Amino acid sequence: MIYLDNAATTPLSRNVKKCIVETIEQYGNPSSLYDFSRNANRIVQESREKVAKAIDCLPEEIYFTSGASESNTWALAQADRCICSPVEHHSILNNPKTHIQSGTILLSNMLVNNETGEIYDVKQIFSKSKNLTHADATQAIGNIQVNVKELGVDMMSFSGHKFHAPKGIGCLYVRHGIVLNPLIYGGKQERGVRGGTENTIGVAAIGVAIEESVANTEKKNKYCMILKRTMLEEFNKSNLDYIVNGKNTISSTVSVSFKGVESEAISLWLNSYGICVSSGSACNSGSAEPSHVLKAIGCPAEYINGTIRFSFSLENTVDEVKFTCEKISEIIGKIKM
Ligand code: PMP
Repeated sequence: MIYLDNAATTPLSRNVKKCIVETIEQYGNPSSLYDFSRNANRIVQESREKVAKAIDCLPEEIYFTSGASESNTWALAQADRCICSPVEHHSILNNPKTHIQSGTILLSNMLVNNETGEIYDVKQIFSKSKNLTHADATQAIGNIQVNVKELGVDMMSFSGHKFHAPKGIGCLYVRHGIVLNPLIYGGKQERGVRGGTENTIGVAAIGVAIEESVANTEKKNKYCMILKRTMLEEFNKSNLDYIVNGKNTISSTVSVSFKGVESEAISLWLNSYGICVSSGSACNSGSAEPSHVLKAIGCPAEYINGTIRFSFSLENTVDEVKFTCEKISEIIGKIKM
């Protein structure tokens, strides 16, 4: 299998697997008082410290959640209405707060777009704001340096499975001093604002994963740049009619729109060769509507339906990219209308 869909989700890293195996026997409830449970509680707090260090904040400013959808929803719950860009993730755009016209305001903007890999200057976007600010860093961790202090945002969301931790664990960073209203009510977990017994295994894993991915950011960036260049060179050699979506993009994501073809057909053909890619974005796969992101950035009508997102990790190779390009060229020759 050739896995080129790392913006949808990533495989667990070797160290994350090791950490999960080590944590699996620590089934004590982190809230209980006996030593066995305190071990679990210690694991949770140590991971919080790792996450905090990775984005340059205090451990008390990190809240564990089930993922970025929950973190985004929680952030938006801190104001009456949300003002955001048209290219945000559906967990922001489909939130009723995004459609309310009055009341206290929260500004939300993503650091990196999930469909195109485009990087946004969130610091600049929020620079004149006196409102609460929130950044969705889900596609940014491990791809660009993310420093919450430098960004100056009030809140920031991310999800572990985008950087080699398991699914179902994420974080919300909340700047010290902000009064945080709960989204999930329950016990005293997460400083009393996020009920639910802690996901010890997921929490332990996200600490290891973020430490590793932040340390690897520069290496990944350089390596994926080689993969991206190779891919575009191969497309040019085959004389394919295509455009690349997004301006200033992370090196691990390449969103390409091929003229006059259907992306579903391309991805199904690629699947038959064991190659995994996304048509547009995983969240949109299977929907007939062209993606809101591609429409918002003005992807031309003759190209928009032929959009494939390739997203790399350090595990991919130049040979895999070349093989994929060879197959794309063959497939487009077959299916072009
Ligand atoms: N925001 C962005 C930018 C994303 O790419 C995703 C996942 N595709 C999410 C939020 C939601 O993450 P999760 O599915 O892990 O809740």
